[in-house]
Amino acid sequence: MKFHQSSAELFIPDGLAPEKALRRTTHLAISAHQDDIEIMAVEPILRCFQQTDLWFSATVMSDGRGSPRDDLYKDYSDEEMRLVRIKEQKKAAIVGEYTALVLLDYPSKAIKDAKEKQPIEDLLLMFKAMKPQFVYTHNLADKHDTHVATALRVIEALRRLPAAERPKKLFGCEVWRSLDWLLDSDKVAFNLSSHENLQAALLGIFDSQICGGKRYDLASIGRRKANATYFETHGLDTASGLSFGMDLTPLIEDDKKPINNYVQEYIARFAQVVADSLSRLG
Ligand SMILES: [Zn+2]
Repeated sequence: MKFHQSSAELFIPDGLAPEKALRRTTHLAISAHQDDIEIMAVEPILRCFQQTDLWFSATVMSDGRGSPRDDLYKDYSDEEMRLVRIKEQKKAAIVGEYTALVLLDYPSKAIKDAKEKQPIEDLLLMFKAMKPQFVYTHNLADKHDTHVATALRVIEALRRLPAAERPKKLFGCEVWRSLDWLLDSDKVAFNLSSHENLQAALLGIFDSQICGGKRYDLASIGRRKANATYFETHGLDTASGLSFGMDLTPLIEDDKKPINNYVQEYIARFAQVVADSLSRLG
């Protein structure tokens, strides 16, 4: 498989032939940065773990050069940071038993530039090789521009696939902005009650980010627990961990559906419920 960036990489943890490793993918997560996948898409990682008929693949769009650095890593050059982040992402692929890891290695600005078509072409090539049934990416209300741009490129690439080759489901997941604000009826809830040990291991691998002064490991586990407890106002906790997704599937079932309007409808439903409650109780 030939991607546009000469530095792009395909990593197959168990050494299977690339074509076979890609083709057995059932669940695929696509993120902007190294570590986003283990924050936002752990449900499909756990679902595929130790299965023979379900396989998880991960794709990272950016090169990780611009990341903040501190502690052990404080004097690292951009290139050294890039390399350490690639190494960490490969370790996660081994621990999580991914079938394949694709590192597209684009600078963030190329992902954010809507006129830049190469990232979309790479994604399309990958979708054709993998034919995943379930795809996970960033949600469209994330507050990190590279995350939102990644989700938009994923949608555009999927819209270029023939309808019969598209995945069954596309989900937008939580990293930089939780999806707690979605109405419960609009939430896709991913149950993360099992394998807390593996969840902690996958998050803990990204030492260069955590030592960079951000406890993403604790924050992500904390968000999962908070989501589980604050999901049901009147019932008992039925899960010990949850992450939330926004169902983006309608955007790949109807190529003409305006993306911005689709997200605004979620926001409008939230705004209406807040307005109704204030007028009812006031
Ligand atoms: Zn990120």
